[in-house]
Amino acid sequence: MIVVADALKFIDEHTGLGPKIKKSLADVYGHVLAENVFTPMNMPPFRQSSMDGYALRWSDNKTYKMVGEVQAGAAKNTALQHGDAVRIFTGARVPDEADTVIIQEHTSRDEDVLNIDKMPVMGSNIRPVGEQVQLGDLVLEEGKFLNEAAIGFLAGLGFEEIPVYEPPKVGILVTGNELQQPGKPLEEGQIYESNAITLQMALKRTGINGVTIERVGDDLKETIKAVEKLLKNSDLVLISGGISVGDYDYVQEALQKNGVQEVFYKVNQKPGKPLWFGTQGKKIVFALPGNPGSSLTCFYVYVWPALRKLRGVKSYQNKEKTATLQTTIKNPFGKVLFLKATVSKNEAKLMGVQASSMLKSFATCNALLIVPAEIEEMNPGEEIKYIALDQL
Ligand code: AMP
Ligand code: MG
Repeated sequence: MIVVADALKFIDEHTGLGPKIKKSLADVYGHVLAENVFTPMNMPPFRQSSMDGYALRWSDNKTYKMVGEVQAGAAKNTALQHGDAVRIFTGARVPDEADTVIIQEHTSRDEDVLNIDKMPVMGSNIRPVGEQVQLGDLVLEEGKFLNEAAIGFLAGLGFEEIPVYEPPKVGILVTGNELQQPGKPLEEGQIYESNAITLQMALKRTGINGVTIERVGDDLKETIKAVEKLLKNSDLVLISGGISVGDYDYVQEALQKNGVQEVFYKVNQKPGKPLWFGTQGKKIVFALPGNPGSSLTCFYVYVWPALRKLRGVKSYQNKEKTATLQTTIKNPFGKVLFLKATVSKNEAKLMGVQASSMLKSFATCNALLIVPAEIEEMNPGEEIKYIALDQL
């Protein structure tokens, strides 16, 4: 059995970055940039009017002569003399000879004569070439998480595709004779299978869709075959159940038979002790304990940081926050405890139900409190570390 910090370290050591791949902008939401991006153009690429109004050469004149109009998108330069003005609209190319745009609210028109009510300072309402970015500028760095704003920014610079880290292909194997699919009637002794969808949804929140799911009973041959199949098509395999010490727990043997090397088995924590982690080449395998609460705890604590790392996120470890405990916690186990709690206004309240077999408290909590193994009791008013589950 190893300690939590070592488990995190070993997983880190065996988890590499995913491959770089060029993808269309429409497909990179939630991906991480795999290279620095330099802009191939100035933005704006020409002097743009930032308002609807009139472009002119600044002077003390109170009247100007109207000589034309420039719409947004019009390419041609409109020639302009001293004392001339052109109607102009937001985003339109400012004539080369104009140095100022006056907003229409500060003018009045008398046919071809423009009356100036209030002249702005010279240079007003013109966006200079390259005001936002200049040709060759580093605009986004490798490691940047691509959200809608970043993707829109890149589109505005003309990019159609960009290099990102390819997210891992993930396979889930669910084991257990007792498991029935929701929607079907339960036979005596059966329970509904919930780990696959829980893990699938958690993966979805990390940005991974299209997960392959296999289900087997507690059968060695079936398990070996399913592990083989998933390893062939996945970079990361999650296995649910069958990793404890029961007579019908075949996962460990099935992994060995498939050449998956054990890195560690069992972590000094509660829940989630029978966590198994191993590798086959660059592929990584987590065998998670079957109890739904343990499985999800292990996902949050171990799998999620590994996924972030695989996907190129720079600070991939979970961020631990601190809150003030409102309840007493006893830890006679000598293990790290991960406890479901609600944290609000920096106050941490423990949920009543902590059993690893249950998801009830997980369904309404927003934090996992972390109690160190060596601490036997924590009391109200003490500071406690936690993982904010809604901010992972
Ligand atoms: P195991 O780790 O296979 O010994 O399973 C531990 C406990 O978790 C048992 O009570 C199982 O019935 C339960 N369990 C295992 N897999 C699942 C699952 N996919 N969905 C819900 N409960 C499960
Ligand atoms: Mg089982």
